[in-house]
Amino acid sequence: MEKINRYFNIPYVLRRIIRTADLSIFLSECRICGNLLVLDNENIICSECRASLIMTDDSCCRICSCPLGNDADICGKCLVDPPPFQKHLSFTPYKGLIKKLILLYKYGQVEGLKHLFTSLLLELYKEKCNRKIDAIIPVPQDRGRKREFSPIMEITELMSNNLKIEHLSDVLVKVKKTVPQAGLGKSRRLKNLDGAFKLQNPVRLEGKTVLLIDDVYTTGTTVRKCAGLLRRFAAEVVVMTLART
Ligand SMILES: [Zn+2]
Ligand SMILES: [Zn+2]
Repeated sequence: MEKINRYFNIPYVLRRIIRTADLSIFLSECRICGNLLVLDNENIICSECRASLIMTDDSCCRICSCPLGNDADICGKCLVDPPPFQKHLSFTPYKGLIKKLILLYKYGQVEGLKHLFTSLLLELYKEKCNRKIDAIIPVPQDRGRKREFSPIMEITELMSNNLKIEHLSDVLVKVKKTVPQAGLGKSRRLKNLDGAFKLQNPVRLEGKTVLLIDDVYTTGTTVRKCAGLLRRFAAEVVVMTLART
């Protein structure tokens, strides 16, 4: 039904062409809702799905951005064990549409989604970063078996080009394969990441405020680990993610 309604929103002339030549088989469908992609700016998902991705602005910890149920401005975790980063910003909670899209990007290898994710992170950066950033750094990932696809690095490269900020894509590297952090207890999470990352040529970080980018912030163990390494040389580390649990 949705599909039919949307078809009738297409300008009449275009609709005639589509019907006459039966071009509908050449039109892509939104990977989320199945709408036909008929507008110029539609790529992989339709403009209606895109419009439903809204930056959340609920009350949260001013350091790690976890939601707060009271009117304190720092969460208990940051009070007891302050993170090595100055601030973490996230676009939206990790559920619903954003979760589907991130999984589609990382595991379905729908690489074109990098443009959408970059636009969300740029929106977040412009709205909330409030700092002069000297370099952008991706959280390094395990390499996929099939081919070289670094989902986060694809995004940081586009961000760096857009913002004209240096891209330090190889200063932080992953040297050990790890199992997914989700579902592990605190001590196993730490053990899992033990020795997983290292710095290369860290002198390039000296005195810089760096922006560390990851897709999802779950317990924060991964970005804490990475930020801790970066902070040995960098002046400040700001973290940005697409979504947080
Ligand atoms: Zn859609
Ligand atoms: Zn916090």
